[in-house]
Amino acid sequence: MEQYTSLAQRDQAVIWHPFTQMQTAPLPIPIVRGKGSVLYGEDGQEYLDMVSSWWVSIHGHANAYIAEKVAAQLTELEHVIFAGFTHEPAVRLAERLLPVLPGNQRKVFYSDNGSTAVEVALKMAFQYWHNLGKPRRKVIAFHDAYHGDTFGAMAVGGRSAFTAPFVPFLFDVEYLPTPVPGQEAAVLAQAEALFSDEVAAFIAEPLVQGAGGMIMYTLGVLDQLMKIAHRHGALVIADEVMTGFGRTGKLFASHYLTEQPDLMCLSKGLTGGTMALGITTCTQAVYEAFLSESKFKTLFHGHSFTANPVACTASLASLDILLSDETLANIQRISAQHTAFIDQLSGYGSATNIRQQGTILAFDLNTGESTSYFSNIRDYAYQFLLDRGVIMRPLGNVLYFMPPYCTTNGQLAYAYAQVEELLRTL
Ligand SMILES: *Cc1c(COP(=O)(O)O)cnc(C)c1O
Repeated sequence: MEQYTSLAQRDQAVIWHPFTQMQTAPLPIPIVRGKGSVLYGEDGQEYLDMVSSWWVSIHGHANAYIAEKVAAQLTELEHVIFAGFTHEPAVRLAERLLPVLPGNQRKVFYSDNGSTAVEVALKMAFQYWHNLGKPRRKVIAFHDAYHGDTFGAMAVGGRSAFTAPFVPFLFDVEYLPTPVPGQEAAVLAQAEALFSDEVAAFIAEPLVQGAGGMIMYTLGVLDQLMKIAHRHGALVIADEVMTGFGRTGKLFASHYLTEQPDLMCLSKGLTGGTMALGITTCTQAVYEAFLSESKFKTLFHGHSFTANPVACTASLASLDILLSDETLANIQRISAQHTAFIDQLSGYGSATNIRQQGTILAFDLNTGESTSYFSNIRDYAYQFLLDRGVIMRPLGNVLYFMPPYCTTNGQLAYAYAQVEELLRTL
């Protein structure tokens, strides 16, 4: 083996990164440790993590309380097969989670990431109809939806450059435009025409479509769409992988709604960003459609690391922190800071379509007449902020804040100031 001097070069010799064009991407930045909202580079540079490391680190990095609980669990029981066996952390987590979810959620099914949580929800929905002897095949989703990168999750997501090579292999889905402000009536009219008794499921990211570009829409119209779905018997899947665990200001975005979803998908913030875990929850009616003397009605799905005890323990510790007065106050504090910053942002012509939902603040970067100068606004903004020690990863021209809840007002003020600097250059 060749000898490489830096970690980044060693990385390049052996690693293929996600969502990365390896030929043109700059070398990755080695991170050696984290504390709260700060990541520390190998070279001593500090970075403010304003995206909670792909939206998972809701309590910041290297949380001591979660670490202590995880360490204790590791020496007690690190893993056990979850078919035919069970353990305290899995049971306790389900017992604690169900009461804070919409009241109709009755059973917890474990997997190990957001995409698998969605796969499980889709398989539950299709098999629900199969088991009832009334097979339904249609799924309705939103344009610009993102539900994960595995095949089923990709199929119910919007079609884009990301899915192009796989389109021939994805099952058909009917799309509704996202009911952004002003489009509500048109989308509802389209939904009335689209929903029928052949629709198995309607899947949505409630209130905020994350990876699709932090597209926000109002709860009223989602309630209406869920009512239309339910009128036709279709199951509603709320993908709260991103919106869950306080992101939108309430514990779950579904708490803003009066209609309740039949299935819910959770991951990302679930373990406080410590490790991978996925959860799909469902109503009693969904669960009961699988109960039978016949083995053929079984949900034949599982993963090696289903309900891993260490991941469940991390989730329990994360819930302790999330449900504390301090964190709930922090969520409101960050939301209020964002709202105040909108006043500043509104003064820049280069920031348009400014929108907020709880701790998520997003806007479009607008280069106006000089667009050609910044042929790639996304890369320019990313690098500009990174050079000033702020990690934000624009989705195309959409810049957004999704900070850990422990982020201080001082840290927010620093990040806001760098964004204002950026806007002044556009
Ligand atoms: C990230 C995400 C997923 C996929 O989760 P992974 O753990 O990355 O597989 C699914 N749905 C939504 C809404 C997401 O934001």
